[in-house]
Amino acid sequence: MAAEAHSTATLRLTVGDLRIVHPISVPSGPVAAADVVPALQGLVNAVVAAAEAGLMKSGGTISCRKGCGACCRQLVPVSRTEGERLLALIAAMPPERRETLHARFAAAGAIITGAALAERGGRSDRELSLAYFALGIPCPFLEDESCSIHTERPLVCREYLVTSPAELCAGRAQEGVTPVAVPKVSMSARGLQDDREDWFPLALLMDWARTRPKGGARRTGPEWIQRFLKGIGRK
Ligand code: SF4
Repeated sequence: MAAEAHSTATLRLTVGDLRIVHPISVPSGPVAAADVVPALQGLVNAVVAAAEAGLMKSGGTISCRKGCGACCRQLVPVSRTEGERLLALIAAMPPERRETLHARFAAAGAIITGAALAERGGRSDRELSLAYFALGIPCPFLEDESCSIHTERPLVCREYLVTSPAELCAGRAQEGVTPVAVPKVSMSARGLQDDREDWFPLALLMDWARTRPKGGARRTGPEWIQRFLKGIGRK
């Protein structure tokens, strides 16, 4: 089978105070939005790296370490596009691994639904986040306090880094936690397919999968990237 043709370019963009120069490669032909997620991961990585470089230049230090998964009990907002990518990732795993994950998602979903947190219910973002965090539900992908899908983790997980002492991240009210000022480029993924806020908590991935919109537009890789970049300007 012939290899899929790719289009490459060097993106030059300004995000907040950061100047990003980033080579990108996407399928040239029409694809589903989920097929450009690897390119979006690379772009978010570049934004995070620039923010980290700026922090280090000003003498700051990131306190996040491998094996510290306190933040992996937070509500992780995932876009439809990333949800589709994660479902494909899980579907390609060996059966035992899939079963383990399905069981964890079912347990997490039952707790969230039982606490009436599957819906916003008039809460502000902060109220919802704190109420969710208080449940103490580990992300179904968390193993030995490390991310078991590190290279495929959601965009928003990449953007969360702190400079405050790690133990503060476990505090119920998150008091004293100082996140690094990383521009939340990930938010643009939420409107990538539908031009509207379209996200759900990662721990409800399997619940979302049962009612998710099927089908969806196919666009060329460059068209998806242009839509994503336009969305950054709107957020
Ligand atoms: S996907 Fe990985 S990094 Fe993100 S919350 Fe889950 S375990 Fe943590």
